Amino acid sequence: MKVLCVLYPDPVEGYPITYARDSIPKIERYPDGFPTPTPKAIDFKPGELLGSVSGELGLRRFLEERGHTLVVTSDKDGPDSVFERELPDADVVISQPFWPAYLTKERIAKAKKLKLAITAGIGSDHYDLKAAMEAGITVAEITWCNSISVAEHAVMMILTLVRNYIPSYKWVVNGGWNIADCVSRSYDLEGMDVGVVGAGRIGRSVLKRLKPFDVKLHYTDQHRLPKEVEEELGVQFHPDVESLVRVCDVISIHCPLHAGTENLFNEKLISKMKRGSYIVNTARARICDRDAIVKALETGQLAGYAGDVWFPQPPPMNHPWRWMPNHAMTPHISGSTLSAQGRYAAGVREILECWLEGRPIRNEYLVVHEGKLAGVGAHSYKV
Ligand code: NAD
Repeated sequence: MKVLCVLYPDPVEGYPITYARDSIPKIERYPDGFPTPTPKAIDFKPGELLGSVSGELGLRRFLEERGHTLVVTSDKDGPDSVFERELPDADVVISQPFWPAYLTKERIAKAKKLKLAITAGIGSDHYDLKAAMEAGITVAEITWCNSISVAEHAVMMILTLVRNYIPSYKWVVNGGWNIADCVSRSYDLEGMDVGVVGAGRIGRSVLKRLKPFDVKLHYTDQHRLPKEVEEELGVQFHPDVESLVRVCDVISIHCPLHAGTENLFNEKLISKMKRGSYIVNTARARICDRDAIVKALETGQLAGYAGDVWFPQPPPMNHPWRWMPNHAMTPHISGSTLSAQGRYAAGVREILECWLEGRPIRNEYLVVHEGKLAGVGAHSYKV
């Protein structure tokens, strides 16, 4: 079996030999009791850099000892890329949403042997799910592996925008002490109306983390939460995104990218938001209309935009989100902390063990299986 694995490049100063911390907390269950990955063994130390090329998701020994071939590359775009050259005889493709191997319909047509596409992370929109269904490819992701990682990042970004953190930090490193410049765009989050689009694993975790900030919480989702969960979180349900954005000061987006969410935040929807609203998007870039976001920041309709998701990834130098005003963007990193990497590398190993031994993959990991949406895919995606 040939496994083709696309990972992001190593750090510019080389693969780390030491780390900032000696260990990471051991987490055995997620907040709803769902167990973290349970492979039979792992060949890495949790807390190591696994998502870059030299980290190899800790898979080489496991695969090669069993007589399989592992090809790891970061060269993923264009017809001459290593990914495209290696694809025709690959049985399994693995990639992370942070550095996605775009598995388009055209590439799937060339991948005659491909039977399994694994997302080392969450969010499998970089694989053409419809084409995967038609080709009989199973698509699986590591449900829950980095949901808390992203929730923490989203809360950080909400505070970053509302408190005007990045410009204030810049005054310090540039040698200034310009308090008035810093605070003339700085507010308290307390008392604001904060809404999430999608109250799945990440959305609910964001709501839970924001509750102690004494904000008014709102959400919309195609699946309404049980009444007791709404009451526990103190969150108000909105039947559609429009009624949500009208009342909110801050919106955090946590739904997958699919046919029903692409370009959801377009000029029309943004015009219905309160002037000076903030959007945090750690879900997928194409849920927002790229140019509508730039325009809304320029006119002041949005007071800030932050997130870590772009299209394409990596974005070109002239991507307007690099240069638009009042943004606090990072590269796509929220779900790839060292803590998260240990979980999704173990999750990939668990899926490969199941696949090789003919055991079923956990239903919650499945996005597409046997020609249709399955597991988390059937719950959260539309094709
Ligand atoms: P999840 O499946 O637990 O939750 C997704 C929720 O979105 C579900 O409740 C679903 O019903 C809801 N939803 C789907 N379509 C909707 C719509 N049209 N309107 C409102 N709600 C809708 O998944 P999750 O773990 O919470 O992850 C959500 C998404 O976050 C992923 O699909 C991925 O795109 C993104 N993500 C990003 C990172 C990152 O590093 N930035 C990491 C993990 C996940």
